[in-house]
Amino acid sequence: MRVVDVIASALPAGRVVTAEADRRAHAHDYWALEAIHDLGGTPADPPPAVVYPESTSEVATVLDIAQQHRAPIVPFGLGSGVCGGVRPGRDALVVDLSRMNRMVEVRPETLIAVAQAGMNGGECERRLGEHGLTLGHFPQSIDRSTVGGWVATRASGQLSTRYGNIEDLVLSLEVVLPGGRVVRTFPSPRASTGPDLRALFLGSEGTLGIVTEVGLKVSPRASRQEGFAATLASWEEGLEISREILQAGWRPAVLRLYDGIEAARNFGEWVPDPAPLLLVMNEGTDVMGEALALELAALRASCERRGARILGDAPLRHWLGHRNRVPSWESLLASGLVVDTIEVAATWDRVGPLYGAVTEAIRAVPGILAASGHTSHGYTTGVNIYFTFAGASKEAREQERIYLDAWRAAMEATVACGATVSHHHGIGRVRREWLARELGDEAVATLRSVKQALDPHGIMNPGVLL
Ligand SMILES: Cc1cc2nc3c(=O)[nH]c(=O)nc-3n(C[C@H](O)[C@H](O)[C@H](O)COP(=O)(O)OP(=O)(O)OC[C@H]3O[C@@H](n4cnc5c(N)ncnc54)[C@H](O)[C@@H]3O)c2cc1C
Repeated sequence: MRVVDVIASALPAGRVVTAEADRRAHAHDYWALEAIHDLGGTPADPPPAVVYPESTSEVATVLDIAQQHRAPIVPFGLGSGVCGGVRPGRDALVVDLSRMNRMVEVRPETLIAVAQAGMNGGECERRLGEHGLTLGHFPQSIDRSTVGGWVATRASGQLSTRYGNIEDLVLSLEVVLPGGRVVRTFPSPRASTGPDLRALFLGSEGTLGIVTEVGLKVSPRASRQEGFAATLASWEEGLEISREILQAGWRPAVLRLYDGIEAARNFGEWVPDPAPLLLVMNEGTDVMGEALALELAALRASCERRGARILGDAPLRHWLGHRNRVPSWESLLASGLVVDTIEVAATWDRVGPLYGAVTEAIRAVPGILAASGHTSHGYTTGVNIYFTFAGASKEAREQERIYLDAWRAAMEATVACGATVSHHHGIGRVRREWLARELGDEAVATLRSVKQALDPHGIMNPGVLL
């Protein structure tokens, strides 16, 4: 019997779907290169079937049978990943978690919630909101990604500077391993109980097992949000202000520095001539009112001390209202534009050179029209830069060439600057080569040993990460 039939007969009816529409919808994630291939008439092969488990034990059944048959498995949340983490091809079965979408429990007294991994991020936030709570994790893709996908990719939300990234918000995990064993980590505010197994699965991109449940640290929902925008004489000034603010210990929810190109593109009403722009916002509850006012005054003073021109809060309100709107790859490609974003991160001493090196390297690629950047996730030790590039071609082969050359240029420049190749989108297929370079031989060998121990037959998401 084929593995798909064995799985279908072991699960309740309706769990294994072979309909063309389901298979096509799971042929890949939201990697821009896939859109180039789709529109160019060379789409990825769809998987033979999609499995929709409805419980952890059903996931365990699937991974038990898959291991026995050495059948490759690709976990799937909502397919919003942008790095090629999902490409099952003709051989792998896709396990779609979207029917495991329940909020298991919310405990306001301990500020803990437990969600099934297939829960839509926006729905998770709405359910927490009913209790006056927030996760504080707001990726731009919040309504099209899952809690499990966030864990699998080590995602970041737009307010991460205040609330932390997903690794700071995960209290416990339930993961099904190949073969069907279920690992559960113990939920505790902190523990000294050996290596932290959560860290193993955070960022594992479906290569070690399937995350089925996530314990989350939540916060009281903010009732106040205040902030301002400021224009600056230079990008370097903006970096210095950001560093000063973060190293002084302030934790604004938003601290975003746009270069002149992006400031003019996104805030043209307020920045008619290209000049770097800083967006600043803090948030909290009414109880924190005085502390928030103090923080906001300090943030403003940091900007003014360095000669920033304060614009008031209209650009911030504009950003809050539009922050999740992005054109689709298809619409951009149809108009002859090859666009993608590349997020990297560096320590403060390297971030200035990094910005110059990456934008210059991308601009040197034939066919590129523009390269720009902004920071969006800050730390006392450094910051991310989110680069955007645009190239021009209406021909699929040339679009692919521009796309891959721009990525190569950006990654090489990033590695040369001593920066990390991904801040929050992960590795997937697009960054594999440079992950190995960043980690080095011994770290890669260690990861391979872990993979070998947990997934001895290499059935989990082959082709991704390493
Ligand atoms: C418009 C847009 C904006 C975005 N903005 C952000 C942003 O602000 N911040 C950010 O971090 N990312 C962002 N992303 C990227 C993407 O949304 C994240 O990577 C997200 O975490 C993916 O979640 P998903 O559920 O869609 O996962 P998928 O795309 O379905 O899967 C992603 C990877 O995780 C694996 N996986 C998924 N679920 C599980 C599971 N339960 N167990 C094990 N492995 C699993 C998959 O095999 C795959 O390798 C954006 C994407 C888009 C399209």
